[in-house]
Amino acid sequence: MNGLKITNVSKTFGKTNVLKDINVEIADGKFLILVGPSGCGKSTLLNIIAGLETATTGSIEIAGEDVISRDPKDRNIAMVFQSYALYPTMTVRGNIAFGLNIRKVPKAEQQQIVDRVAKMLRIEDLLDRKPAQLSGGQRQRVAMGRALARDPAIFLFDEPLSNLDAKLRVDMRTEIKELHQRMKTTVVYVTHDQVEAMTLGDYIAVMKDGIIQQFGTPSEIYNHPNNMFVAGFMGSPS
Ligand code: ADP
Ligand code: MG
Repeated sequence: MNGLKITNVSKTFGKTNVLKDINVEIADGKFLILVGPSGCGKSTLLNIIAGLETATTGSIEIAGEDVISRDPKDRNIAMVFQSYALYPTMTVRGNIAFGLNIRKVPKAEQQQIVDRVAKMLRIEDLLDRKPAQLSGGQRQRVAMGRALARDPAIFLFDEPLSNLDAKLRVDMRTEIKELHQRMKTTVVYVTHDQVEAMTLGDYIAVMKDGIIQQFGTPSEIYNHPNNMFVAGFMGSPS
């Protein structure tokens, strides 16, 4: 295994129980989708994995190590959000190299990493531009590039495509899938879009009201939904 193990994770905000005894385990290199309607707890779970939010109970293992009490920066994760959060005054190169710079990776090595990542994402020609000179899809690629450059043990995505138009969303979906096939990094990807879930996931966890309703491969979930909610949400044939 050694990818990601979530054990008995729960989370309360005040009196509200937003995650209830979450258990999920995926092997190294697998692509896990967390899907479900707005407010079901997807981002909260992702943020707990990232260390941006503390769990009320439970444990998180990343690459075989218990990380629950570790700082976000010591969890060897990279996160891509819905909004790109690029540094507007820096070039694309500077944005991608940002984390490397902080970790004092030598300049020559930084350059090599940026060039490799840029090639992978097909943004080699954009390295000297500023974010304002990029389209939405290009910016999202740069944000992914910055995450990739760090060579994390796990990638966390929170609805990374939901600000893009429909055509671009489909293109980026294909790119993310191809990228994963090449990189083989463990991924947890949050979406409320069942098509995205079906096309990207090795495994899907369907969530509702802080509970995992079903965990399985896309075809298991789609063809053999556990309950009416999963069937309805995933659009399974009746
Ligand atoms: P999703 O990402 O699936 O839309 P979230 O994880 O963002 O859902 O939210 C799950 C529930 O937790 C929601 O009811 C939301 O209002 C609540 N929630 C999220 N963050 C906080 C917070 N910081 N304080 C209180 N309630 C929160
Ligand atoms: Mg969310």
